[in-house]
Amino acid sequence: MKGFAMLSIGKVGWIEKEKPAPGPFDAIVRPLAVAPCTSDIHTVFEGAIGERHNMILGHEAVGEVVEVGSEVKDFKPGDRVVVPAITPDWRTSEVQRGYHQHSGGMLAGWKFSNVKDGVFGEFFHVNDADMNLAHLPKEIPLEAAVMIPDMMTTGFHGAELADIQMGSSVVVIGIGAVGLMGIAGAKLRGAGRIIGVGSRPICVEAAKFYGATDILNYKNGHIVDQVMKLTNGKGVDRVIMAGGGSETLSQAVSMVKPGGIISNINYHGSGDALLIPRVEWGCGMAHKTIKGGLCPGGRLRMERLIDLVFYKRVDPSKLVTHVFRGFDNIEKAFMLMKDKPKDLIKPVVILA
Ligand code: NAD
Ligand code: ZN
Repeated sequence: MKGFAMLSIGKVGWIEKEKPAPGPFDAIVRPLAVAPCTSDIHTVFEGAIGERHNMILGHEAVGEVVEVGSEVKDFKPGDRVVVPAITPDWRTSEVQRGYHQHSGGMLAGWKFSNVKDGVFGEFFHVNDADMNLAHLPKEIPLEAAVMIPDMMTTGFHGAELADIQMGSSVVVIGIGAVGLMGIAGAKLRGAGRIIGVGSRPICVEAAKFYGATDILNYKNGHIVDQVMKLTNGKGVDRVIMAGGGSETLSQAVSMVKPGGIISNINYHGSGDALLIPRVEWGCGMAHKTIKGGLCPGGRLRMERLIDLVFYKRVDPSKLVTHVFRGFDNIEKAFMLMKDKPKDLIKPVVILA
């Protein structure tokens, strides 16, 4: 079978591989819609998680089951499924500790386009199908559905980690697809004021659609000053970091109130350290909490996100600015994600 792969750091291309086979609990899925992620860009072009050779890319897919192992109970060939970006090994101690994203080791629940072939192949392998796949209702269009496996779960995790309370004031740094879902998640959890930080007009418009009450442009001056001005020098209760470089942690620490929470869902792809500013950190005594997390995966998470779309609590289709058809266009969509033209939020490739 054919797949679009990371050949080595900085290099991508099409390769041929054996079609995968399922173990007793696994499934083989044919993608019906896929999307490239900024994380794949960090992985390939920054070498952020180290060298990878001939690894098929992609971890955002909805698909059709083509084969299942002998022990799979709830899925059969022909079923349409949402495939989470994170497909943990559920029989691990990390799961018992409550962190399925790290089942088997740090970040090890993230398998596609990290430690095994991803979803940009004609077929791909899903471990533990009953625990990791979710049925896709026919009412949800493929373009919207493919925003569930990563964009929705990640952005919403930003709001969860931030522990947003009714009426909390929130800054979301970076309003690409992930930050936009951070805004939507913050609104769903009852945030009051939501300040989005971004620059592309198309993202600004989407940020307002998803619930931003204010927008700041980081190109118009220091964002801490801008946030302080907007909040009469008080800062905000919560900050969700979903874009920008390593400087954003210092900015987040500076703009969050004492006792506030910073929630990072950004993939910091380069540099050795993130800095915490000493004075704004209250010389270590400000009760400012910093959290960071990989998006939740697995079946139950996908089913809950599917319900949010099905019952119209959130419409992820506004993220999709470019729709391509046909397998060969995966490369074009991927390169768009690298180049980030002004009119792009998220490209999708339909393979149905
Ligand atoms: P994106 O590039 O589309 O969006 C990032 C946004 O940040 C852009 O709108 C950009 O204008 C803005 N930005 C850049 N510099 C900034 C600055 N100095 N201050 C404020 N904003 C700035 O990316 P995306 O697809 O939305 O993904 C965001 C991040 O989330 C990426 O790093 C991606 O790899 C990561 N990610 C993490 C997870 C996870 O599980 N935690 C999952 C998916 C993606
Ligand atoms: Zn991703």
